[in-house]
Amino acid sequence: MVMNKKIGRVYIKTYGCQMNFYDSEKIKTLLINNGYEIVDSPEIADFVAVNSCSVRKHAEDRAMAFLSSHAYLRKEGKILCLFGCTANLHKEKLLESYPFIDIICGAGNYKRLPEILATATGGISCTGDGADPFIEELPVPEGNISAFVTVTKGCENFCSYCVVPFARGRFLSRKPEDICREVEFLTAGGVREIILLGQNVNEYGKDTDMKFTGLLEKIHDITGIARMGFLTSHPKDIPDELIRSFKNLPKLYKHLHLPLQSGSDRILKLMNRNYTLGRYLEIVEKARDTTPDITITSDIITGFPSETEKDFGKTCSAVEDIEFDDLFVFKYSERTGTAASRMKDDVPEKEKESRHKIILDIQEGVSLKKNIRLTGKTDSVFVVKTSSKRKGAFLGRSSGNKSVVFTSHSSTPGTLETVVFNSADRRYLFGISCGGNKK
Ligand code: SAH
Ligand code: SF4
Repeated sequence: MVMNKKIGRVYIKTYGCQMNFYDSEKIKTLLINNGYEIVDSPEIADFVAVNSCSVRKHAEDRAMAFLSSHAYLRKEGKILCLFGCTANLHKEKLLESYPFIDIICGAGNYKRLPEILATATGGISCTGDGADPFIEELPVPEGNISAFVTVTKGCENFCSYCVVPFARGRFLSRKPEDICREVEFLTAGGVREIILLGQNVNEYGKDTDMKFTGLLEKIHDITGIARMGFLTSHPKDIPDELIRSFKNLPKLYKHLHLPLQSGSDRILKLMNRNYTLGRYLEIVEKARDTTPDITITSDIITGFPSETEKDFGKTCSAVEDIEFDDLFVFKYSERTGTAASRMKDDVPEKEKESRHKIILDIQEGVSLKKNIRLTGKTDSVFVVKTSSKRKGAFLGRSSGNKSVVFTSHSSTPGTLETVVFNSADRRYLFGISCGGNKK
């Protein structure tokens, strides 16, 4: 506990991925435990902080625009802070363009935040790298039935387009006992669904004794968990034992998020992804052979430097042939410091946009077709909450982690319920409960 220092009210605005949101929740708990108050408006805060993402330029621009538009608050004695990837990436250099920022704090120094804030006097307290990025403070579940838990930090894969290795630093696996302690604490507080997070969770354990599948089994054994899942997997690191986990661990969502990025081997090589389309297809085939109803989702980047019509055509064919259950499509965004930033960003913005739309259009049809194929099937659905739009309806997630809307006389969030699907659209499976709540 920090004593005799300035302790105040903190407002945190978060941008970016689940990992950033998870970090913000941890930071909040850490600050609360050290006497700070978390408030939900910048106007009533003493510290106005942004936890930013820098994966794509657009996200970074939004985060910095938020801080700029609140720079006037400094005149009222408030302290402006920047946390997260952008802080790590640009460090002190940011102060040249944003001189109104008082504190820049990267993930490696989050643990010191209570002290850093307490000693800030409005001058610059600048911090970048640090040794241990895991905050072990336990998050407060606050009635939530779902929670994210980070298992690895950083990344050393250096995909040529990606800023994460620069922004999040070296790869580190969190200790299994710390992960389990957090999961047990969350389940004791009512959480029933756990999603494990990491840039490439499959590398978990390359710096410790326990491998990722071992960790999955350990968490699977924790009483109270109804469903568990993980994000994200890299196609270069998918061992057969992980594919078998979908069959062997009944609480594990039968869902693999496996970013393909491009269907052209030439582009994959330039991206430094370390697999070919052929290898990717082998993994998909093996996963579907082992678990026929597995859901596979992916990420695609359109307009990577030098991507020709022919390369793009290969991506379109791959998306049509593989039939992903869902897809996230991003226009290539040049990030300073990455290997790709030294290549010519030669695909015009309009072309990136049109390719983006073409892929999304293909996926619309595929997603709809795949969802319709599930009508008539019975599944065990994790009940998330009551629907705010339809009376007597509930929202849930299928065993393959697809969104479900179902009708039922009474259902309890956090339990598993047997549902028969009777229709579907591109985003949802619709169904009726067959009763028989299972804990
Ligand atoms: N660690 C994960 C992904 C992290 S970023 C993995 O390895 O798959 C999430 C997604 O953002 C990536 O899969 C990629 O599709 C996209 N992305 C990352 N950097 C990008 C960039 N510079 N431009 C466009 N999309 C990018
Ligand atoms: Fe970025 Fe590649 Fe690491 Fe994913 S695996 S975070 S895309 S460098």
